[in-house]
Amino acid sequence: MGRFDKYNVDLKGMRVTSLELEFDLDNAFFADIEGEEFQKGSVKAKVTVDKCRDIFNFSFLLAGTVVVPCDRCLDDLEIEVETENTLRVKLGDSYADEGDIVIIPENEGDLNIAWYLYEFIVLALPMKRVHAPGKCNHEMTGRLKKHSGDAEEAEDGEEMQIDPRWAGLKDLQIEEDN
Ligand SMILES: [Zn+2]
Repeated sequence: MGRFDKYNVDLKGMRVTSLELEFDLDNAFFADIEGEEFQKGSVKAKVTVDKCRDIFNFSFLLAGTVVVPCDRCLDDLEIEVETENTLRVKLGDSYADEGDIVIIPENEGDLNIAWYLYEFIVLALPMKRVHAPGKCNHEMTGRLKKHSGDAEEAEDGEEMQIDPRWAGLKDLQIEEDN
């Protein structure tokens, strides 16, 4: 059995008009999916599939927490997510994603929803991901500040060496000596 086999929904073989599925998405799931946004979390997923003529209406209810890096200190930051999404699926000749409807090849007849589950969580994450004020990892933010301070000093030193006013002053002193 493949890692994501249990997220396969057999649409062609669906003999009922409504199907309810539940999944517990854990650290192992998020590690396996290898998404860029986050790799840890605990999210409950409720998926219902309603068949209406030749359309399969999916609805996803996702709720739980995921762990992302904090934008400011890079430490783990837990974010609560709760999101509802829908997806319309139809069987057809070949695979196509037409925005509001996904066509899957009839000869395959099934849809794997593992990546959709991950993507819907990503869409629910806030743009800005930072700890509450004062809750950041001070050791890390302190180190980042110190590092940028050193860089500024180095730049100042360089400027002084090539400052033409200093060169001019040097020439003046030599003239006076003569
Ligand atoms: Zn932080």
